[in-house]
Amino acid sequence: MKREELIEKISDKSKIWDMVVIGGGATGLGIALDAALRGYSVALFELDDFAKSTSSRSTKLVHGGVRYLQKGDVALVREALTERGRLRNNAPHLVKDQSFVIPNYTHLDNFIYTCGLTLYDILSWGGLSLGRSLFIPKRKTSRCLPTITKKGLKGGVIYHDGQFDDSRLAINLAQSCAENGGCPVNHMKVTGILHDENGKVAGVKVIDNESGKEYSVKAKSTVNATGCFVDDIIKMDVPSSAKMVKPSQGVHLVFDKSFLNSDYALMIPKTSDGRVLFAVPWHNKVVVGTTDIVRDEPELEPVALEEEIEFILQTAGLYMVRKPERKDILSVFAGQRPLAAPKKEGKSTKEISRSHKIFVSDNNLITITGGKWTTYRRMAEDTVDKAINLSLIEPKKCTTKNFKIHGYKPNPDLKNHLYVYGSDMKLIEDIIKTNPEMAKKIHPEYNYTHAEVVLAVRHEMARNVEDVLARRVRLLFIDAKAAKVSAKSVAETIAGELGYDSNWIENQTKTFEALSDQYIIN
Ligand SMILES: Cc1cc2nc3c(=O)[nH]c(=O)nc-3n(C[C@H](O)[C@H](O)[C@H](O)COP(=O)(O)OP(=O)(O)OC[C@H]3O[C@@H](n4cnc5c(N)ncnc54)[C@H](O)[C@@H]3O)c2cc1C
Repeated sequence: MKREELIEKISDKSKIWDMVVIGGGATGLGIALDAALRGYSVALFELDDFAKSTSSRSTKLVHGGVRYLQKGDVALVREALTERGRLRNNAPHLVKDQSFVIPNYTHLDNFIYTCGLTLYDILSWGGLSLGRSLFIPKRKTSRCLPTITKKGLKGGVIYHDGQFDDSRLAINLAQSCAENGGCPVNHMKVTGILHDENGKVAGVKVIDNESGKEYSVKAKSTVNATGCFVDDIIKMDVPSSAKMVKPSQGVHLVFDKSFLNSDYALMIPKTSDGRVLFAVPWHNKVVVGTTDIVRDEPELEPVALEEEIEFILQTAGLYMVRKPERKDILSVFAGQRPLAAPKKEGKSTKEISRSHKIFVSDNNLITITGGKWTTYRRMAEDTVDKAINLSLIEPKKCTTKNFKIHGYKPNPDLKNHLYVYGSDMKLIEDIIKTNPEMAKKIHPEYNYTHAEVVLAVRHEMARNVEDVLARRVRLLFIDAKAAKVSAKSVAETIAGELGYDSNWIENQTKTFEALSDQYIIN
């Protein structure tokens, strides 16, 4: 996947693409891959990096959503459990089985959650289950979750879901798309919508953020998959359009794994604000979250609010013997859910449906919003089908159900931190063989090497320090201070690959250091 080659393809002014997709998060990349695999010509434009926005800031769960079962949304849960199983089969190098424990402090909760999770299992019929749910007595609950409060504990329930690396999956989707003839380009902003003589949408205007060059890209169908930013694009088509999306912010705190000290994840089914709180082992740390706060406007780099940080610390502290404090936070990250705005005023975000919605403007701009990472494949299928139903493109069948995503490798060795590269692991070994210097670690306390930086630039379209340290190697998300001190050496390695000078290195280092301060709590 080489950016220069992809830009070359979109420079062809005479070309009319079957589909143009705006937005390179889970939704847009899924759509572009689906379209490429059906044999359509498809280009995708992402204004920053792939998964820059919400798609790198999830709770890292590939799940049916136990919470939606509590609300009786059985169809949504069944759909997500089906997609969970498919994703586990199609990207086993990135999606692993994760056992969760719900600790119960009343006998009634033991009964309710054992029954509820049995239903959750039943809904994953058809060979897509990840394991049976089970009631466990008090002593076993304490053994599974050694750091939780024992006072009043009455037992627990074990259940299974998937856990993944969100931004790495996004990169692999982009690679799969490019390998199948698609043209996904990052750091390329859509600045306008093209209309034909009948006023119908006919493509997009884009600007390359690196070169400043502008392009007009013509297409038979245009899809707006910009998450929380869909309204900006809708207004480029019809300026008077009403808002469709409300951003709702969710924050996660990352701690040392000793706070959980277990391979089991902790799930608190009902916090004081009626939400679910997870503490999930991830890349040798534990990710705790999340919150749900409505924001007025979407942000590309949202910042955690004090009240969100305090809420997570306090709620986790109620269940953990060693109460996490501010000084223990290794990284804090915030993401914004692209929730379909409620028609009725005053509805809370918890009540707004999490299912995806597809809208078509009078001019045939297709907008998709809502949904979740787990269901990205199904969302993509529905969106491409919509373009077919509108007769914008000729009918072709979806082929993604069993498609093996780039890097596919079953039974990865989870002890080797390179397992996330799947079948690409060999490329890293080759880089080190050619230049043993690249075996040097990025940071003394972590196993990430400069060979991974080289791989990110050569094969994964990383263009700057943030692309590498936030979304290829996840150091910014697991230890923001360590990421900050690694910025300069990573910038030097990238500059060596892309031919940049010392000014670029200095600017990049400063820019990344300022960004990482937002992930550090003092
Ligand atoms: C806190 C939180 C936790 C979550 N946890 C989970 C979970 O554990 N499991 C799960 O399945 N789901 C989870 N989700 C949901 C999931 O993360 C989202 O549904 C999904 O990432 C949304 O992807 P998207 O592509 O629609 O949006 P985004 O990831 O936001 O992508 C949209 C992209 O469009 C780009 N863009 C915007 N404007 C333009 C433009 N003018 N030109 C070009 N590009 C543009 C943006 O830069 C952005 O990258 C969570 C969400 C949140 C907020």
